[in-house]
Amino acid sequence: AGDRELFPRGPEQFRAYDRRAMQAWQPLVYEEQLTFAEDGYQGYFETIKTPIRDLHGRVTGVLGVCRDITDRKRAEQEIERLAFYDALTGLPNRRLLLDRLQRSIAACQRSKNLGALLFIDLDNFKDLNDTLGHDMGDQLLSQVATRLVGSVREADTVARFGGDEFVVMLDNLNPELQGAAAQAETVAEKLLASLNQPFALGGQQHYSTPSIGITLFGDERLSVDELLKRADLAMYQAKAAGRNTQRFFDPDMQAAVNARSNLEADLRQGLAKNELLVHYQPVVDHQARLVGAEALVRWRHPQRGMISPGDFIPLAEQTGLILPLGQTVLETACRQLQRWGQDAATAHLSISVNVSARQFRQPGFVAEVLDTLKAHRADPQRLKLELTESLLLGDIEDTIVRMEQLKAQGVGFALDDFGTGYSSLSYLKRLPLDQIKIDQSFVRDVLSDPNDAAIVRTILALAKSLDLQVVAEGVETTGQLGFLRLHGCEGFQGYLFGRPVPVDLFEREHLSEAPLAAPAAGTP
Ligand code: C2E
Ligand code: MG
Ligand code: MG
Repeated sequence: AGDRELFPRGPEQFRAYDRRAMQAWQPLVYEEQLTFAEDGYQGYFETIKTPIRDLHGRVTGVLGVCRDITDRKRAEQEIERLAFYDALTGLPNRRLLLDRLQRSIAACQRSKNLGALLFIDLDNFKDLNDTLGHDMGDQLLSQVATRLVGSVREADTVARFGGDEFVVMLDNLNPELQGAAAQAETVAEKLLASLNQPFALGGQQHYSTPSIGITLFGDERLSVDELLKRADLAMYQAKAAGRNTQRFFDPDMQAAVNARSNLEADLRQGLAKNELLVHYQPVVDHQARLVGAEALVRWRHPQRGMISPGDFIPLAEQTGLILPLGQTVLETACRQLQRWGQDAATAHLSISVNVSARQFRQPGFVAEVLDTLKAHRADPQRLKLELTESLLLGDIEDTIVRMEQLKAQGVGFALDDFGTGYSSLSYLKRLPLDQIKIDQSFVRDVLSDPNDAAIVRTILALAKSLDLQVVAEGVETTGQLGFLRLHGCEGFQGYLFGRPVPVDLFEREHLSEAPLAAPAAGTP
């Protein structure tokens, strides 16, 4: 019978092999999976194809011999399964884990990403095994395996290390130690939460808890053995700390993780309890006349006092809390704009609001800003959004579209901390910006560091040629002011003109003549 009758799949595939065989000087050997047309039998076949030549060496045909190797394949797979997978749970075993860990370490060296090993030991497993019997013990281990697999990404490895010990390997974590530690901690918490749910064993509810030791890898060259030892040590620390918890190998890392998660919980609460306030810092023109204010968030922590944004904005960005936080600041600023808009003496003042990249990229961002303006009846012309250069690392086309949508309604844009980031001139020209803000680090040493002086002069010349307004940040001395004015700067912000302060103080300090300021009691 011909190929066409034997196999439902077209014969083109076989012809391709034939052509290759005809060109080869040696028999062609290959394996493939085939299905028979007649009875639907599926199997693995090994085929040997040999070119047949005439007396002159010309190929006249191909001889094919094909044999069923399905049994051998199955045996191979079975051997692999037995050698690399745990029979009870079906998870990768210690040997396969070591192999994957070795590969992952090498991959980390290339990608610069970090990885983590989580060593998991069930608390009091021996007691269960002794009292309820091995069958129940096995059932528990299988259920634990299922939960572990369900709690991690598909790319992560969950292995049974032996007995009641499991190891989870996380790949491709953040390149920064801090970030990777936070990610590993999040996974550990997830595993803890999942294993803390009751297990059903023989119709009975049973509780089991794990102790988890964590170590990161990829930043230094460590052997597989050393890494496992560290994770194991950390696991014992988790046991010593009372079980049902997780510990990092490195005590410094543990301290950093604790501090961070405390701060995160506090920030979540602080947002709900209105502990976040907005201070305003004056922005002035070349004649030192007030033209507006920058809204700067502050956190009045019940125990730790006033915390500056540098200490919690990065955390808010990582945890997503920047979204409610940013919205709170925006609402406060819009309410203030509406109030100032009521009075001729203050109606010209604008307010600048800092916007994090994560916030700006949020799907509903444009609508949210417009809705907030509308809800507070604030004039969009008086709102300026300060973006940072980190935004330019992302989808630049999307950034431009969003900016343009807001600009069409009158909202202005400033590029904050200019000079510290990634801005290239081509981007600067394409973005619909109104203003750039020279970072305070350049302004600080403008009189003493010729390099900084040159940068500031160049930024000013560049802004002029692109028709952008400039605000110099961090102006503290009249000397700095003199230099900036000499080179054509027309906007200023810094302690020389005023620090960020609550709005009532701002109005008293900077709008003292304005009728809007609350009439001071006792003054004639
Ligand atoms: P920024 O937007 O560049 O804000 C200017 C920073 O410089 C403010 O620090 C301000 O207090 C400080 N500053 C102003 N004048 C002077 C001066 O003369 N000398 C010195 N040494 N410093 C001066 P702050 O308030 O600590 O804010 C730090 C950063 O936190 C801000 O930098 C901004 O990037 C971020 N931030 C503040 N509020 C928010 C917010 O509501 N949302 C977001 N996403 N980020 C915010
Ligand atoms: Mg700013
Ligand atoms: Mg700035």
